[in-house]
Amino acid sequence: MPEPVDCETIGANGEVDGEVDDEVDDGGVAHADRWNHWHGFTQMAGYRSWVIERGEGNWLIDSQGGRYLDGVSSMWCNVHGHRKREIDEAIIAQVGRVAHVTSLGMGCDTTARLAGRLAEIAPGDLDHTFFSSDGSSAIETALKLAIQYWGHAAGREGVAGLAAKTKYLAVGSAYHGDTTGAVSLGDIPRFHHLFKPILFETLRGPCPDTYRLPQGVGSVEEALGNYAGCYEALIREHHHELAAVVIEPLIQAAAGMILHPPGFLARLRRACDEHRVLLIADEVATGFGRTGRMFAVEHEGVVPDLLCLGKGLTGGYLPMAATVARRFLFEAFFAPRDQGAQFFHGHTFGGNPLAAAAALASIELFGKERILEQLPAKGERIDAGLVRLADHPRVGSIRRIGLMVGIELVADRRMKRPFPAGWEVGQQVCELALGKGVWVRPLGDVIVLMPPLSVTAEEIDLLVAAVCDAIETVTATLARPSASGPLGAPAGGRVSSVSVF
Ligand code: PLP
Repeated sequence: MPEPVDCETIGANGEVDGEVDDEVDDGGVAHADRWNHWHGFTQMAGYRSWVIERGEGNWLIDSQGGRYLDGVSSMWCNVHGHRKREIDEAIIAQVGRVAHVTSLGMGCDTTARLAGRLAEIAPGDLDHTFFSSDGSSAIETALKLAIQYWGHAAGREGVAGLAAKTKYLAVGSAYHGDTTGAVSLGDIPRFHHLFKPILFETLRGPCPDTYRLPQGVGSVEEALGNYAGCYEALIREHHHELAAVVIEPLIQAAAGMILHPPGFLARLRRACDEHRVLLIADEVATGFGRTGRMFAVEHEGVVPDLLCLGKGLTGGYLPMAATVARRFLFEAFFAPRDQGAQFFHGHTFGGNPLAAAAALASIELFGKERILEQLPAKGERIDAGLVRLADHPRVGSIRRIGLMVGIELVADRRMKRPFPAGWEVGQQVCELALGKGVWVRPLGDVIVLMPPLSVTAEEIDLLVAAVCDAIETVTATLARPSASGPLGAPAGGRVSSVSVF
């Protein structure tokens, strides 16, 4: 289990006083993991190597033999657990034939079958898949595809003004990944503000938050009218310059598991249709069962023009992402070869057959193991366990859809006031839960639970109990909440911010 270290204890070559690689002969793994491997969203000065050696179902086993329930699906991507026999076998069978085939001007039977399967399971006429490697790349693909589409539409329809549709509208607190286009859509200051000089301008509406409602709004139903009205006005006013609206449907995960008012997505779809603006649904986090339906858009009967998928596409096994397009978009790129109308975009590993084999096996398991049918009971079991926190003075909100859960810890429940920056209450809770054999991660002071869909009833009980215990213990060391007065400092002492995402 990792413990935070002080920057000062790290020497010039990355040695850390008393660290395990000084004591145990691990072949230099801990050292290389901390010194040579630069970890994302992680303060390396405070990073004490934590190396996972293997997975078993919903569990991860580290180099010290410690077993941890994977309460965040290995960054929201694992679906059926680790070392799932059917997926392992599909990858091995594919390796025995060919590991990689390019998608540029040719194809592979496995990748073709996957594209066909995605057309079957995606809603409406979302039948045409462009493959890439990460969720962020699926977003970049959608952004470029939308721009090129409007250029084609301008030419075909003889309406030059359509080529001016080059902007995007995104929501407050959006997160769509870490490549430059995706960051331009993003609105989480601590992730995004540093990069402002190289970002393009994005039109922005409010975050359709159902916990912190707009001023003067008293209910979620009222908030729907407020938020949707605001987006309808923005689309009406800017449609001539808008290529697309980009949205994480129903829930903004990285923003802290923020739930939208029911009906918001459907209203957005209608407004896009009325004013001829494309709708891009980013289902990188929500796709493949995470919200209880195969795709989140299904909850509101919405067919987006472009559907972005990643993470769970391969069951969380291999890097693969997909941008699935509706028929009119695909056909708009049809033209004689010499007209240069093909989509000018492509990735070396897009459509990789090993990843495609994993994805096909994963999708097959949804039917074979009736995964979606079991999710309501699993969700209810999580709710039942979390009832324990319902009246907790430091728990501002418990939000869940499917197997995506956010528990927001606040300094003041009535005022919904967050803890002061730097207290790292969420981080402390997760560190304590880790000590109980449960791996969860915070987003600020929102504790995220997102176990694999294969999580069992017993594992849910363990996960929920460990998190509730940790929240009760950590918050008990804080001063009593008061409506307006200052809070006492956390008694837990200094904690290191190991990772911010
Ligand atoms: N979109 C959403 C909604 C996400 O949650 C993420 C990652 O968490 C991404 C895009 C980026 O995906 P990736 O990290 O695979 O690039």
